[in-house]
Amino acid sequence: MKISLGDEYEIIRRQARKFAEDECRLALRKYEELEEFPWELWKRASELGYTGLMIPEEYGGAGEDPLLAVIVAEEISRGFPSFGLSLGAHFTLCGYNIAREGNEFQKKKYLPMLASGKSIGCMGLTEPEAGSDATGIKTSAKKEDNFYILNGTKTFITNAPIADLFFIYAKTSPELGKRGISAFILERNFEGLSTSKPFKKMGNRCSPTGEIIMINCKVPIENLVGKENEGVYIMMRGLDVERIILSAGALGIMQWALEISKNYSIQRFQFGKRIAEFQLIQEKLAEMAMMLEISRVYVYTIAKKWKENPGDRGLRGSAASLKLFVWDCAEKVTREAIQVLGGYGYMRENIVEMLYRDARLGPIGAGTAEIDKLIIFSELMENNDFII
Ligand SMILES: Cc1cc2nc3c(=O)[nH]c(=O)nc-3n(C[C@H](O)[C@H](O)[C@H](O)COP(=O)(O)OP(=O)(O)OC[C@H]3O[C@@H](n4cnc5c(N)ncnc54)[C@H](O)[C@@H]3O)c2cc1C
Repeated sequence: MKISLGDEYEIIRRQARKFAEDECRLALRKYEELEEFPWELWKRASELGYTGLMIPEEYGGAGEDPLLAVIVAEEISRGFPSFGLSLGAHFTLCGYNIAREGNEFQKKKYLPMLASGKSIGCMGLTEPEAGSDATGIKTSAKKEDNFYILNGTKTFITNAPIADLFFIYAKTSPELGKRGISAFILERNFEGLSTSKPFKKMGNRCSPTGEIIMINCKVPIENLVGKENEGVYIMMRGLDVERIILSAGALGIMQWALEISKNYSIQRFQFGKRIAEFQLIQEKLAEMAMMLEISRVYVYTIAKKWKENPGDRGLRGSAASLKLFVWDCAEKVTREAIQVLGGYGYMRENIVEMLYRDARLGPIGAGTAEIDKLIIFSELMENNDFII
């Protein structure tokens, strides 16, 4: 089933698909081998306006439209998933957090450089001792004259090794627990800030992941985002929208895996027949297509709801459920794609093994699958959104 969101969106989809097929796929193998960030694609993405997704037009962006963002994210992941991850982290976790929560001064200062792609953004929440327990972060922010002095380490941060701007959560009042968290914008050249080299990873190897180290890092007070000690609300809204938009990456991964599997099943002969003629292979392809279609409808539906009511607290359960569901589907679809290709699927020259490794991040990043389930359960018990 083709789901059309209207001409305006379909034009963007075609453009993003062309970029993914003609440029991303071409560059992919070289960068996968090098495990490096594809700067040439970043430049092209900025020319096409993708670095400005989720950023208002008045600051040079493409507009705060999550439907547009999921379409582009889906298409790019169909050609280079780890590049899609870095791009998505840039505009969703840094750009959109500032656009949604920042004040006029912050938006004027930082959004144009993010939108144009001159600066790359990242978001630092996770710490070595605080992953799922996100509000248990230890990074401290103490006010001294016109600065906050930040001390702490963030880990597993997408884009940290290459980022220019850092959206950081720290505790301004540790004694208040989760009600003592605040959000800040940090620049790479701030005194006391450094980043690690990219970590070696199972998948998403061209999306640099690393640490942010803050040692007496001096952050001007005007870089506090929102009110002091109200960062937990920013964090939760940020996680909700991250779960929605970054789920679109799963669609691109599934689409590509299905495409490869379908073609292979027609070309590959065993026992004198195309393997597509075997019912066990037909079952796999049918289930893969079903999982992709349901996931796509789900992603677009929730993205549309966020567009209609940005920051809606009522979407928390749906965002967690969406992310849990689509990445579970992506894992299954990519595993079955390898199965359809048999031994060839296990070889690195066939993209499906990379898609499988890339999809494995889904149930870990932006809150694990277990945390998604806890959120869904808690929303089920607290309100009636799941029972209509
Ligand atoms: C490639 C990559 C990119 C990332 N990018 C970012 C980023 O840009 N910014 C950022 O801030 N973070 C980022 N992360 C971090 C990610 O959000 C965390 O890894 C994730 O939240 C899990 O935290 P943890 O790794 O510390 O695991 P832990 O929290 O230690 O969890 C270990 C296991 O215990 C389970 N568990 C924990 N608590 C419970 C519970 N209460 N009930 C049941 N099970 C539980 C978990 O589900 C998991 O299975 C990234 C991670 C990766 C791998």
